[in-house]
Amino acid sequence: MMHRCPICKKATDSELDRDFPFCSERCRLRDLGAWASEKYVVSDPVFDEQELEGRSAETEARRKRNDTIH
Ligand SMILES: [Zn+2]
Repeated sequence: MMHRCPICKKATDSELDRDFPFCSERCRLRDLGAWASEKYVVSDPVFDEQELEGRSAETEARRKRNDTIH
């Protein structure tokens, strides 16, 4: 099966290239690095912590607002 390396667009062959669909380990690692820097940030535990913190702070603010109203 012929394919093109998603990194450098060089033609690759699933039967010949060990790092298919990448043409080389270098491109495979580069894609992995790009994936890690883009996607890993989203699922980073620190982000989840901040989100939870923000959510609880929001709940706290809403509670305080209700206290002021009543
Ligand atoms: Zn490549």
